[in-house]
Amino acid sequence: MKNKGILFIVSAPSGAGKTTLCQKISSMVPNLTHSVSYTTRPPRSGEVNDRDYTFIDEDEFRHMIEEDKFAEWAKVHGHLYGTSRKRLEEMMEAGIDVILDIDTQGAMQIKEKYSEGIYIFILPPSMKVLVERLEKRMCNSKDEITKRLKRAIDEIKDYKNYDYVIVNDIFEKAIREIEAIIISERARTYKIDPLWIEENFLR
Ligand code: 5GP
Repeated sequence: MKNKGILFIVSAPSGAGKTTLCQKISSMVPNLTHSVSYTTRPPRSGEVNDRDYTFIDEDEFRHMIEEDKFAEWAKVHGHLYGTSRKRLEEMMEAGIDVILDIDTQGAMQIKEKYSEGIYIFILPPSMKVLVERLEKRMCNSKDEITKRLKRAIDEIKDYKNYDYVIVNDIFEKAIREIEAIIISERARTYKIDPLWIEENFLR
């Protein structure tokens, strides 16, 4: 049975723990891959080119926009991020399920372009926890915390555009919930090839 891969789009406000969730889920669920985005943001310590992101400069990124190489792209926290159309479509055509860890602007562009897709929104356990996580992450930049909080509120307002909402209060529980969504989506009737049913059960 060869079927097109399913596209899972995961968004969350900064500090909800989305990246860790996405990394864990794509390492534990077979036939699920995290799509490596392009970004103009400089690599953080420990990040590897072409594994975490493909790091490029703004000129290259703009050139790729002009050449229509992105399935979606957006400016997030002052840097450009984009999903390569080629990488995405090749994986899906190969029958691999893809997880896109992208912001809400990018998610809405994907929704316009690709009719299929499962949209998952991750929430932190509370606003208090979100503030604490942001303070820990950007220990000396009050301005940056205020900016990210404002943006977080704007992003949370978009939750209604998603099919599922997961509260990341207990990491293992959140993982189980995302895994359950993936397993259920794989068992949907439309994923079954009618020819396979015919050949195996009806002849
Ligand atoms: P970070 O720089 O912390 O890894 O990511 C910052 C934000 O950019 C996160 O919300 C992440 O989901 C989002 N992001 C990462 N890659 C992409 C992408 O290809 N497109 C869009 N629209 N957002 C992305």
